[in-house]
Amino acid sequence: MKWDGRRGSDNIEDRRGDGGGGFGGPPGGMRMGRIGGAGGFGLIAVAILVWALGGDPIAVLTGGTGGQTIQVGGGGGGGQITPEDEQAAKFVSVTLADTEEVWKDVLQKEAGMDYTPTTLVLFKGQTYSDCGGATEATGPFYCPVDKKVYLDTDFFTTMSQELGAKGDFAAAYVVAHEVGHHVQDLLGILDKTTRYREQASEADANAMSVRVELQADCFAGVWAKNAAQKFGSLEPGDIQEAVDAASRIGDDTLQRNAGRRPMPDSFTHGTSEQRQRWLTAGYNAGTIRACDTFGTNSL
Ligand SMILES: [Zn+2]
Repeated sequence: MKWDGRRGSDNIEDRRGDGGGGFGGPPGGMRMGRIGGAGGFGLIAVAILVWALGGDPIAVLTGGTGGQTIQVGGGGGGGQITPEDEQAAKFVSVTLADTEEVWKDVLQKEAGMDYTPTTLVLFKGQTYSDCGGATEATGPFYCPVDKKVYLDTDFFTTMSQELGAKGDFAAAYVVAHEVGHHVQDLLGILDKTTRYREQASEADANAMSVRVELQADCFAGVWAKNAAQKFGSLEPGDIQEAVDAASRIGDDTLQRNAGRRPMPDSFTHGTSEQRQRWLTAGYNAGTIRACDTFGTNSL
């Protein structure tokens, strides 16, 4: 993705200097459901890093300079902000600005709606959200209560090692997927599905979650297509990078990689095949109409 020197978003709340303070949530301890991120964090971080490094998991597991940055649940916590952190923050900021311009157009055109941008909270180690505490182990997520996207900067430190090189669009996809949840929120979709899930059986609630997540993938594709047209910012191979990332964070693949037999009833994000397909559908069409994961019998 071409991003260097481009305009960044003003809607970044940078909490990286907070030293991890404030964890435990706001007074009153309200905890409401966060909307699952792009996948389980440890797994997604490893999966994307593996991919970013050219698909060699050994290179990841044996460390090198980036080894320690994928530790799940360790470290972090208000450490020094490195030049890599700064690069990552800039990349996220440009990506977020791109989502603002694209969704302003698309929502106006397709839904006659004004787009209210989300705020993206960058943190390091741990922080709080109105949906509960967030740590690097939580993974990127969207909180519908405070309408913010939460991203641990270490996640992007990891990604930043490839920024400007071939790995950046996987990171853009993760940001776009979370912003996709915000668009669902604006469209009233999250409210409805959350209410449904609260009274459904676990299997039905999970099935609804899959539809929500696949639509967020599709919305990420819609963003990518419109960004390509509007800014000429996509480079050859970018969309394939995102599709490859999607294939590595399907529930079936994650469960298999964790040594378990895939259990479809427990899926919350969709299979690798489904995630790639809906991302691609959004990209090919470039319209939210192409993302009706709720009205189809063949997900
Ligand atoms: Zn999600």
